Amino acid sequence: MSTETGAQDWRWLSDALGDDAVALDEHSLAQHGKDEGFARQGRKFLPEVVAFPQTTDEVVTVVREAARRGLRVTAWGAGTSMEGNGLPTRGGIVLDMSRMNRIVSVHPEDLQVVVEPGILRPDLNEQVARHGLFFPPDPGAPATIGGMVSNNASGTKSAKYGVTRDYVLGLEVVLADGIVIRTGSRAIKSASGYNLTGLFVGAEGTLGVITRITMRLAPLPAVVHGALGRFSSLDHAAKAVAGMIGAGVTPAMSELLDEQVIRVLNAEQETGWPERATLLLEFDGSSTAAVEDELELARAVIADVDPGAEFVTSSPDEHRRVTALRHGLGPTIFRSSSKPHIKVLDSTVPISRYVDLVRATRTILGAHGLEGFQLGHAGDGNLHVLILADAKDPEEWARVELAEDDIVEKALEFEGTTTGEHGVGLGRKRFMEAEHGRATDVMRAIKLALDPEQLLNPDKIVDIEL
Ligand SMILES: Cc1cc2nc3c(=O)[nH]c(=O)nc-3n(C[C@H](O)[C@H](O)[C@H](O)COP(=O)(O)OP(=O)(O)OC[C@H]3O[C@@H](n4cnc5c(N)ncnc54)[C@H](O)[C@@H]3O)c2cc1C
Repeated sequence: MSTETGAQDWRWLSDALGDDAVALDEHSLAQHGKDEGFARQGRKFLPEVVAFPQTTDEVVTVVREAARRGLRVTAWGAGTSMEGNGLPTRGGIVLDMSRMNRIVSVHPEDLQVVVEPGILRPDLNEQVARHGLFFPPDPGAPATIGGMVSNNASGTKSAKYGVTRDYVLGLEVVLADGIVIRTGSRAIKSASGYNLTGLFVGAEGTLGVITRITMRLAPLPAVVHGALGRFSSLDHAAKAVAGMIGAGVTPAMSELLDEQVIRVLNAEQETGWPERATLLLEFDGSSTAAVEDELELARAVIADVDPGAEFVTSSPDEHRRVTALRHGLGPTIFRSSSKPHIKVLDSTVPISRYVDLVRATRTILGAHGLEGFQLGHAGDGNLHVLILADAKDPEEWARVELAEDDIVEKALEFEGTTTGEHGVGLGRKRFMEAEHGRATDVMRAIKLALDPEQLLNPDKIVDIEL
């Protein structure tokens, strides 16, 4: 194996980790130079080398030696980010954590598990199901737990079950100077000092490399029912979600799809659904009676909000199929488009303003003459807007970015956030000052305190002169 790329000799890395834990071939570099979001915008940043550590000690060795040599280190989970969160903008080493994928211990009596960061969410859930437990946040994509913690990911279940941050009790982290710290504990509450665990959750690997995660889990629900709500308009669908939550019904899933999304599903997946704004709903609980009560209350709220709405329950098989269709929607819409690129927005607002955001988005897309799809994890106020365009057409892409600016401005006006779950990465940095004002200076100070040379995943979240 050649141990050189560019001016670097990587023998020290293969000496430390072993030959088969270091990749320099074009394919590996390309694979670690694009994430799911930026790939669909035709953007990439290649690393110089990819390393696959298997232990915390190996991570320490790589980080220490990289620091000594002034090399950048960027952690990598499964590469399913949407905003260039883990792209090696300044080359250096990508630390692919996929071989650190063990479950360290399970504590069923405490509803807890300790894992290495490279374990995939589906694999974790398969393993803990035998204890009647699961990790609810569900991005749909096969993400690693380390990547989910670092992006504070959520997805379809968060209105009822919360986001990744709510499940993290403690972390082991390798800092930029190679020191290993442990944050938190297995106690479910603690008033012991600054919330360092919370600091690393959502830090996108800019403050340290996470090598171990202590997490809470939830009991698997005994009963799960699916349903579909079909509405007179998208506004009615958005209002119905707020109505349900206001009435004390929190569906485990409430996915909003606009009429255009339904058209694409009918064309691509032969769903044969009425072309109406739709809510994909899931209700779960510990008994059939409790779940059926929720379903009936939801039916009543929906009829009240929109007398023209249709509410149908799904069989378990249908519900499984509908859920799979939802998880595959991004790729399905992308495939169906004649445009080569896609921009995915991720604004989130308080549920009472959700309908306002949906309306404003429609007006803004129209004003900029863009083709956009609205879908979202409606229960937690998260609206994804998928805008199809050609990033190589400067005039068209400028309109996409102007529309994004306008939609984010509205989300902030409605007391929301630019990103509910995808994180900041490179793509959303330009909104950070508008959203956080002087607090961005605090973020810069934290980064510089922990990583003064900006060795770990540089250029993300906030700009700092290098
Ligand atoms: C089709 C599709 C649907 C999606 N839907 C959702 C959704 O509904 N909700 C949602 O939240 N997200 C969604 N995402 C985005 C993505 O799946 C999540 O952000 C996920 O958390 C990324 O995990 P990953 O393992 O791929 O991490 P990566 O993309 O590899 O990395 C994510 C970030 O974490 C850092 N990182 C990774 N591992 C570590 C570590 N051990 N220590 C420190 N830093 C680390 C990286 O540097 C990077 O900054 C979707 C993506 C796709 C492709």
